[in-house]
Amino acid sequence: MIQVKEIKKVFRTEEVETWAISNISLNVNVGEFVAIMGPSGCGKSTLLNILGLIDTPSGGTYLLDGKDVSSLKENDRIDLRKGVIGFVFQSFNLIDELTVEENIELPLLYMGIGKRERKERVQKAMERMNIAHRSRHFPAQLSGGQQQRVAIARAVISNPKLILADEPTGNLDSKNGEEVMQLLSELHKEGTTIVMVTHSQHDAGYANRIVKLFDGHVVSELEM
Ligand code: ADP
Ligand code: MG
Repeated sequence: MIQVKEIKKVFRTEEVETWAISNISLNVNVGEFVAIMGPSGCGKSTLLNILGLIDTPSGGTYLLDGKDVSSLKENDRIDLRKGVIGFVFQSFNLIDELTVEENIELPLLYMGIGKRERKERVQKAMERMNIAHRSRHFPAQLSGGQQQRVAIARAVISNPKLILADEPTGNLDSKNGEEVMQLLSELHKEGTTIVMVTHSQHDAGYANRIVKLFDGHVVSELEM
């Protein structure tokens, strides 16, 4: 599904150049669950943002499902992302002004799906993520664990083939973190490909493979 070859990413400001990724090659097969680990600042989020078509590499190639997506324009990246990639963030990234059900519904609105189908799918996703009893609440009225369950519902509502999760349990206590990992694990068992950044050795135990980064490159890969 993912074929990344010698990608690089440099961030430039007037004075400094930061090589967030110096050289990463990585393949992820359909149905795999890959954990990305490494110290703070080693390029994990930058890599995930490139994989998720949120950002583009400064060099190298990225094939997603065999299609070269290395240098697509922003609009084409957004179009391609729809219905293919679901993103889960450490800080949940819900929209404060929208209710739980409205947040979850958003990807379906972008995809142009009709109201009746939207409502049905949102209801199912809320029930699955055990958040239906909070459908009319706003994010600020929820616990961290509940907010992350809403974020996962929003990420999976479009049935993406690929889920990218950037430290999904980083802001959660161990009980809520475990619940989130159980949900990701279920999605993986159903065939979804997952790439997850984590600092937790325990969470990495759910993956088939652990890729360790240091200073913008891969230092080790461990099959589990
Ligand atoms: P990690 O997620 O592993 O902690 P990041 O991918 O966020 O690391 O960052 C890697 C490096 O790139 C860090 O040195 C960071 O400061 C830098 N960096 C990340 N994003 C930007 C940006 N938008 N502008 C400038 N530097 C950035
Ligand atoms: Mg990060």
